Amino acid sequence: MRIEPDIKLDFKDVLIRPKRSTLRSRSEVTVVRDYKFRNSGQKWSGVPIIASNMDHTGTIAMAKALAEHKLATALDKFISLEDWQALNEKVLPYTFVSAGSNKDDFEKISAILKKVNIPGICLDIANGYSKHFTDLVKKVRETFPNKIIMAGNVVTGEMVEELIISGADIVKVGIGPGSVCTTRVKTGVGYPQLSAIIECADSAHGLKGHVCADGGCVVPGDVAKAFAAGADFVMLGGMFAGHDEASGEIFEVDDRQYKRFYGMSSAEAMHKHHGKVEEYRSSEGRSVNVPYRGPVENTILDILGGIRSACTYVGADHFKYLSKCTTFIRVTQQWNEIYAHNQTNKDNAR
Ligand code: 5GP
Repeated sequence: MRIEPDIKLDFKDVLIRPKRSTLRSRSEVTVVRDYKFRNSGQKWSGVPIIASNMDHTGTIAMAKALAEHKLATALDKFISLEDWQALNEKVLPYTFVSAGSNKDDFEKISAILKKVNIPGICLDIANGYSKHFTDLVKKVRETFPNKIIMAGNVVTGEMVEELIISGADIVKVGIGPGSVCTTRVKTGVGYPQLSAIIECADSAHGLKGHVCADGGCVVPGDVAKAFAAGADFVMLGGMFAGHDEASGEIFEVDDRQYKRFYGMSSAEAMHKHHGKVEEYRSSEGRSVNVPYRGPVENTILDILGGIRSACTYVGADHFKYLSKCTTFIRVTQQWNEIYAHNQTNKDNAR
């Protein structure tokens, strides 16, 4: 056993220090970024925020709404070929098709990619450290040399390097930070997300690879901090939950409206997709009722407004410079919570 003495940080442990800036308005900040990927050689242009490939958020409706603002969606792996074929050229450039590590998933994405022009593949398993995952990344890269491959999840530099060398263009970073994740509680395993992003981005960028910070953002400021820490993409589950475009019906409890949101390793997801929770595994996700939040449009604008504003505070005229312009300061308090429980939905309206 060994203990690493450095303290690792989360979003809540830091703030971005303001700096002198010549920018006059947030509207001067561009939020679209252009990328060229290391292994596929593909180019992609858009707002590098991705809805998570969870049942609730990786929906067709979400993909359509986010694509209007050039944000991407990793559609959940249960979307059918027919539904994929119904998407048009306005939406498809902002999509990833998802797969886990089983053989059926590989066959399914192969069939979809034969028929539909999707730029990216999201290879997603809870523990990206296993040797069979690296082998899967290699196999998918050999089969689809021109597709953007995003693979994860991991939280340490050496594994980011391994996945990039094996063929991933973007490595997904995050073990345990998610809003409906219970991995840290069930297994004791995890890594504070801000430090994971900083360390993984450093490893990826050294190889001309990219990283996607996945999980743990709960307010627009966290998304800004993830980019400031060096993330090239940020994946969001909980921040897109509860909207019209997320799956599930609206229901009422004590006169308040909710939607159901569950982790993809929760007992609810395992029952839905596999009929049971296997005896050898525990569920590592929870199910929650999230307040119904109307159309996702307001949330998108709120997040993009927050990023633009963060850029103006540090003098970054394009948000690709946000990370270069950022100095984080360690803090003991994030915000003044005195009226946190008095807030009404009206206060959040645009
Ligand atoms: P959020 O943005 O909600 O904080 O985090 C979303 C991320 O949580 C997803 O993209 C995925 O990586 C992770 N996640 C989703 N479901 C589960 C789950 O059941 N267990 C765990 N450990 N992580 C999950």
